[in-house]
Amino acid sequence: VQPSPENLKQTLQDKGVKYALAGYVDIHGIIKGKFVPISHIGRMLKGSELFTGAALDGVPQDIADNEVAAMPDVATMTVCPWNPELAWFASDLHLEGAPFEACSRSILKRQVAAAADMGFTFNLGIETEFFLFKDSADGGFEPISGRDILAKPCYDPRTLGDNMHIVGELVEAMNSMGWDVYSFDHEDANGQFETDFTYTDALGMADRLVFFRLMANEIARKHGAFASFMPKPSANRTGSGAHYNMSLADRETGKNLFDPANGEDTHGCGVTEMAYHFIAGIMKHAGAISAVIAPTVNSYKRLVRKGAMSGSTWAPVFVCYGNNNRTNMLRIPSQGGRVECRAADIACNPYLGAAMILAAGLEGIREAMDPGQPHRENMYNYSDKEVREMGIEMLPQNLGEAVDAFEADPLSKQVFGQAMFDSFVQFKREEWTSYHTHVSEWEIQRYLKFF
Ligand code: GLU
Ligand code: MG
Ligand code: MG
Repeated sequence: VQPSPENLKQTLQDKGVKYALAGYVDIHGIIKGKFVPISHIGRMLKGSELFTGAALDGVPQDIADNEVAAMPDVATMTVCPWNPELAWFASDLHLEGAPFEACSRSILKRQVAAAADMGFTFNLGIETEFFLFKDSADGGFEPISGRDILAKPCYDPRTLGDNMHIVGELVEAMNSMGWDVYSFDHEDANGQFETDFTYTDALGMADRLVFFRLMANEIARKHGAFASFMPKPSANRTGSGAHYNMSLADRETGKNLFDPANGEDTHGCGVTEMAYHFIAGIMKHAGAISAVIAPTVNSYKRLVRKGAMSGSTWAPVFVCYGNNNRTNMLRIPSQGGRVECRAADIACNPYLGAAMILAAGLEGIREAMDPGQPHRENMYNYSDKEVREMGIEMLPQNLGEAVDAFEADPLSKQVFGQAMFDSFVQFKREEWTSYHTHVSEWEIQRYLKFF
């Protein structure tokens, strides 16, 4: 049962909340909205807050069009841990009283409904890798670290301990909202951290991820730092993934249908036949999916074996799956019962990413697709040529290739709807062209006086 506007107003007043934010997201999955004094919350809950879609990135509207409205989902009401005067509501966009087709959250809801029609709940856990940096004296940025920059910072408890004023505050905030953090650590790049928390249904997880980015930024700022969700800020260090850990549950019983206790493990990696079909569907659409889960120019600098790094990137390059092996795009962790998509990065719009992946996976199940044999070996050891000879496709090498794959795949339009499909292709192609036509310092260094 949803609380009445009067009850909600009273509850918020009792908590000391003064403002409400009906927050929807733009194409990047960045929260947008207005602060509404809670004396007006009754109107806000009915969608009173209007927005010029054309003012936002990737919202397919003309300035002559009617405004879109933010329609809050009351069940998501959350008092912002960094600012207890503000309550956030995850919201959908509506237009002229009906759901707006090109709304990220509604796009995911449509796929969640398709899964429900097949009897499934899509459960999702997203691992959050991100950086904490501070501005440096030379106008650049540097890792927020109390210690010397370590050569191997991965799992370093000292640096984590030094930064508990930020990371600890973030974890406490997550737990205060019931997210159930089960571990957090320093990752493999200086200033890189990861917080892991319990999975939930895909819509709930996407709401959490967009809120997480806002919250991490706000908490870091309080301490003179900033959180960065750029996928690959340093060429010689690992980037920030946002691994999607996925399973389907029976809607009625809640049973995990990827758990081999509930079905035959046909390919010997620790999940059921249904999960292998799901994997095969994702593999079929991997190019189009990449454009959505690795959505920036910079994303493709993460999806390499080594690049300027000495060690591993731990990020996938090829469209293949396997057991616990971290060089596959799709990994089945040794505990089994779930599939991890490692291609996603922390800059993704998780509503759109989850929608594409789910649609692809459901197609795999409907058509009983076979993903072929699993790869248990280190895929980084193969050359591109060897991999091609094995019949394995490569993930797109850059945003341009990814957008081409997205545009060419009929699944994209089916999931996004025509207007959002057009908008995404146009926006991302322009992003690519803008980068591609820029002459970089690297080129000047390499070619200016070379010939
Ligand atoms: N940072 C790696 C990535 O870019 C992942 C490391 C890990 O497996 O936790 O995906
Ligand atoms: Mg990690
Ligand atoms: Mg992982």
